[in-house]
Order: sequence, then C-alpha cells, then structure tokens
Amino acid sequence: MGVTDVLSVKAGVIYGEDVKKLFEYCQEKNFAIPAINVTSSSTVVAALEAARDKKSPIILQMSQGGAAYFAGKGVSNGKQEASIAGAVAGAHYIRAVAPSYGIPVVLHTDHCAKKLLPWLDGMLDADEAWHKDKGEPLFSSHMIDLSEEEVDFNIQTTAKYLKRAAPMKQWLEMEIGITGGEEDGVNNEDVDNNSLYTQPEDIYNIYQTLSPISPYFSIAAGFGNVHGVYKPGNVKLHPELLSKHQKYVKDKTSSKKEKPVFLVFHGGSGSSKDEFKQAISYGVVKVNLDTDLQYAYLTGIRDYVLNKKDYLMKQVGNPDGEDKPNKKYYDPRVWVREGEKTMSKRVMEALDDFNAAGQL
Ligand SMILES: [Zn+2]
Repeated sequence: MGVTDVLSVKAGVIYGEDVKKLFEYCQEKNFAIPAINVTSSSTVVAALEAARDKKSPIILQMSQGGAAYFAGKGVSNGKQEASIAGAVAGAHYIRAVAPSYGIPVVLHTDHCAKKLLPWLDGMLDADEAWHKDKGEPLFSSHMIDLSEEEVDFNIQTTAKYLKRAAPMKQWLEMEIGITGGEEDGVNNEDVDNNSLYTQPEDIYNIYQTLSPISPYFSIAAGFGNVHGVYKPGNVKLHPELLSKHQKYVKDKTSSKKEKPVFLVFHGGSGSSKDEFKQAISYGVVKVNLDTDLQYAYLTGIRDYVLNKKDYLMKQVGNPDGEDKPNKKYYDPRVWVREGEKTMSKRVMEALDDFNAAGQL
C-alpha cells in the first residue's frame, strides 16, 4: 500500500481530488511533502530526481521572483508580465517532464502578497484557459499570502480567490499570522497574545469561511516560524499550537477527523528534525524549503570550480599539458550538474526527515 494506490493519476502533475487524497494520506501516515522552490529547469530536475530516487511524491513551487527568473531576468516585470509568463512556462515544462520521473507532482506557486495579486490573476487566466481546453487547471494549486493585512481582509479576499479556483478543483493555500524574521519573537514570552502565533479561533474562522466554498484549501499558520536561516535561539517554535488548532476545529465542527485542517509549515529551513516530526504529527502536510536548498545548489558548483580551477581559466591549456582542451570541464552540463547533485542530495535528506521517502 502506497500513495499511488489512492491517486487516479500516478505519475506527473496531479490536481483536485488527487491533491486532497494525497494530503489526507500524508496525515494518515504521518508524513509531509517538501515544497521545493524551483527557478529553472535545472532545479526542477534536481528536485524530481531526488523524489524519484526516494520513491516519494513532491511539490514544486515557483515564487513570484522565481517565476520571473524562469522568463529571464532581462524581461521587465512592472505589471508582473515576466512572473506570469515565467510561471506559465515553468508549469508547461514541469507538466512535460514530470511523467518521465514516475512520481506524482503537485505544481504550486508560492507566496502572493497583496501587491502581487496581478500575478495571481494572470496565472488564474492561464488556468481557466487550460481548464476550458483540458478540463483541469494548469497549476495544481496557488498560494495567496495576505498575512500582513487585516485578518478580515485576508480571509474575505482569500475566499474570493477560492471561489474562482473552486470550479477548476484547484487548491489554494493561505497564510495567517506572521512568519517573522530574526528580531521578531525576541522577549515575547506571552505566546497566546503574540501575533507570531496564530490563535485557534482564527483557524476556525478561516475553516468556517472557506469550507462551504471548496474543500481544497490549506492554512499556513504562524507558530513562531521564520523565513530564512537565522541564529538559533531568537525565535521559539511552538508546533504544539498546531494540535490546539486541530482540536478546536474538530470540537467546533464535530468533525470525525482527528486532523480536520490541512496545515503548511513555512520557513522550514534551519528547523530541527524533532520540530518537523512534531509539526507533521499535528497535520502539517507540506513543508516549504528554500534557503537550505539554495545553499545546497551552490555547494556543488562552488566545490567544482574551486577544485578544477586550473582547468577553467582558459579554453586550452591545463596542468596536464599546454595544448590540452578544457571543453569537458567548462561545459555547463558538467558544472551546473554538480549543483543539481548537491541540491538533490539535500532534497533527499528532507524526504527522509519528513518521512516522505518510500511512501509511493
Ligand atoms: Zn509564509
């Protein structure tokens, strides 16, 4: 028994009921899927390879900046045109290659703050066009992030977007509470009154508003998490708050499910394995990982360049001889590949840490 037993599409990009079944399976079997930020075909294949080799499903996500990078840094992005074109291009690329890896892939887009909503609108236009033609959205899911706004505005606007996504059976992830930076959380001992820590009432409020529209949504709740890697000790994670959310919603709705809410862990880089395990046991189905993977991607390329320096300074001539060509050392397929290998290795570690390895 594995995750592909419960899915109708077993390899390639999945959507709708399959995404829900995948996340329910995660909660049932106590694992989460890492969401890998991808910015190029190279980072896509590094992530897909890791998931294939570890026999796991995977989530690939593009941020607004990552999507623009897919289109090219030289394209102007004043009206989000590069981010829209890049996200659509990335989606088509991922859709085309994912089946070759034999694993289910959730095709997602990352944080979309209020000022970036034209990006989300543009992607939804592409989703609707694709849906009209193929009967499914181009992307499995999107994220809307209005956590910096008033709570009411956040929930109502999220509801509006979920209404647009619902006819396509498209998933929507939202965020509530602040996922802080280094200084947030210092000297904040009073957990229950701290905006870094989302309250169960907020989660219930979101659940009550969104559930009648569509079952396809998840919540990234703040429990002291931070984006990026900072000096340890400045912010205290409280994953146990997530279990309070589940219990509160379960009691209020008389749900039969122990974990009625699909939760997302943002700012996962730098957290301990124990913190991940705890959060996953409380119904986290997706963990965002970006910073650690950026570093992992660099290390392979960095070490290659440092070790092969004498073979890279000119096209012809190296320590083996004045007339020796260096083409096989400077071909991007050689040195970019080294970054893919080290990134892939780090993704595999995450798949082990989140207990996703072997779940196919
Ligand atoms: Zn976030």
